[in-house]
Amino acid sequence: MPDEWMPGATRLDVGGHAPTDGGPPKAIGHITWDENATAARPLDLVPYENLQSWFGRNPSGIPSAPHILWDPFTGRFTQFLPASSRSKSLADKAGGTRTNRAGDVVLQVEALFFPHCRVDSKVYARLVDTPCKGWPELLAWIRSWGVPDRWPMGRPTDFTSRRNEEIWEEEAGWYGHSQVPENDHQDPGSWPAFTTAEEDMTPEQAAQLKKIYDAQVPYSGWQYKGQGTQDAWALLNNAAITSAAAVKSVAALSAKVDGLKQPILTADQLAALAAQVAAHPTLAEQIAELVADKLAARLAD
Ligand SMILES: [Zn+2]
Repeated sequence: MPDEWMPGATRLDVGGHAPTDGGPPKAIGHITWDENATAARPLDLVPYENLQSWFGRNPSGIPSAPHILWDPFTGRFTQFLPASSRSKSLADKAGGTRTNRAGDVVLQVEALFFPHCRVDSKVYARLVDTPCKGWPELLAWIRSWGVPDRWPMGRPTDFTSRRNEEIWEEEAGWYGHSQVPENDHQDPGSWPAFTTAEEDMTPEQAAQLKKIYDAQVPYSGWQYKGQGTQDAWALLNNAAITSAAAVKSVAALSAKVDGLKQPILTADQLAALAAQVAAHPTLAEQIAELVADKLAARLAD
């Protein structure tokens, strides 16, 4: 039996537990969307404690309490209802699906976030841009309730609504609030990925990484999980650090090179590229090498 209460979460039981209707297990992603900020007019993030007491203690907030309030900046969690009970963050019209109950579990997560929120003088446009602290722990708990790592309506990438009652009733997995029938909210806009870099690797990439570590860390070798002095995760982290250092040294070199002042890619394209590269440390190294070679050739001209 999985844990009714997420390990490590503050428990603030609002009572009124009620069973779900059964069916494909689901998780629902929300953002609290407390303020309407813009890129031109960012606003400070609302304190976590405000949301905690809104959902946990305020008579107006309790009727829309999720299971979990998640602060992606600090990794704090508060849980208001046990996993097997329905929670209350979805609208549910008379007739049709009972949204909050439509699965063996319908685990709802409110991420403390709104677009263009400011934390420590940095502004965040999307939830995925935050540190997403605690996401692995949250995901592990949700997986333990049988919710598969999939988005039947697609992973949210913007604030567009897409709803399909047939898919909702038949398919297990994650849904954005923007993808739930009988609802009109458009959150969450984005959501962290299920995969870690480790799971993301193709067999070929794994083999490349193995080669690197066989050569550079002969005392450790390649241990897939938890054997030897370093496990796969530690090795990958080290590879990512090495890659980042390589990229930085290339960046320093490029600052010395004239003629690169005209950007070919937009800032968004560059950001997307950087995210892809960062997810594949071996790729990052290869690119860094290629760029270094090209810049060196230019300097030699
Ligand atoms: Zn929502």
